[in-house]
Amino acid sequence: MEGVPALRGRRPPGRGRDPSPLPAFRRSLVRWFRRSGRDLPWRSTRDPYRILVAEFLLQQTRVDQARPFYHRFLARFPDLPSLARAREGSVLKAWEGAGYYARARHLRDLARTVVRVYGGTLPHRVEQLRELPGVGEYTARALAAIAFRRPVLAVDANVERVLARVLYPSALDEPEAEDLLGRADPRAFNEGLMELGQRICTPRNPRCPRCPVRKICGAYRTLPSPGSIPRRGPKAVRPRVSAAVGVVARDGRLLLQRRPSGGLLGGLWEFPGGKIEPGETPAQAVRREFAEETGLVVRVLRPLGVVEHDYSHFHVSLHVFALGLRSGGRLRKGPYRWVKPAALGRLALPAATRRMLPLALPMVSPPPDRRTRGAG
Ligand code: SF4
Repeated sequence: MEGVPALRGRRPPGRGRDPSPLPAFRRSLVRWFRRSGRDLPWRSTRDPYRILVAEFLLQQTRVDQARPFYHRFLARFPDLPSLARAREGSVLKAWEGAGYYARARHLRDLARTVVRVYGGTLPHRVEQLRELPGVGEYTARALAAIAFRRPVLAVDANVERVLARVLYPSALDEPEAEDLLGRADPRAFNEGLMELGQRICTPRNPRCPRCPVRKICGAYRTLPSPGSIPRRGPKAVRPRVSAAVGVVARDGRLLLQRRPSGGLLGGLWEFPGGKIEPGETPAQAVRREFAEETGLVVRVLRPLGVVEHDYSHFHVSLHVFALGLRSGGRLRKGPYRWVKPAALGRLALPAATRRMLPLALPMVSPPPDRRTRGAG
């Protein structure tokens, strides 16, 4: 660690010599993490498979939101062989609500690869792990350090921010990263850095007075506002998209379409529809989409409402219509299914489609007050 140029030349206040502050940094971080780290379900296990599932979830789901999905997924697929044997639809269903469904597909592909290539046991080394489906550099390093206690450092945006502040005004280069870990417990050190970035050294308003490493932190010691590091560019504006979606009912069933595997929400079931083209009204768009995609000729019965939904990179306004079938059309062969309301619970649906159900379900099961009025 004395070989970390980033920290050479620092003189801790009140000292006559110039020792590296790294041992103190490691000690303070690990001690704080062991005393104050959150009690998360994937932290109390040594089972690499459970840590793997958590790492996949945490790739794009916040810690506080990941917990119920973690438990539900493991209740359904308690070990790697059970996941390797599963059908894609069951895996997507168990992942439902967590979003970024490519993670669930990759996880199943990974389980199959590990069964085929490694006899069902996850490999330990970063080079092996990063060859597995859905595993990038960060996840490979996090798994190696947390599941197998390999002496590597996993650097995501959170950790990068913490290190940029602690090491300020120097920067950390790749070859120096492992020196930073030194002889600290790889699991506690990596999880401690992640925890510090999530709870204390947050992007905009770091809570420096409560930080366990403030005495060593370069940004805290030298800058009036440590949160200004690293420098940020202007915030990207999230594009807005409008789409039209149609609900068709027949014999007490609703028409659903399965999205192509591989893309956004791949493999999930939704009401057919598509993007509204420039110059089109939402009603025109839904009729056109149905003719082009499904082969059905439809008429708009009434608008059911507009569902607003945020994805990570865009916002979509979904105009939902009740549609009636006209003669002359025929449902094409393809990923379509007429689904009874009771069977909807068995399909994996995107969150936006789930939010449309209260609008759509009265088309196949009128609310009790309407049935009463009709009977009278
Ligand atoms: S002292 Fe402040 S800026 Fe430095 S690591 Fe701690 S929270 Fe982050």
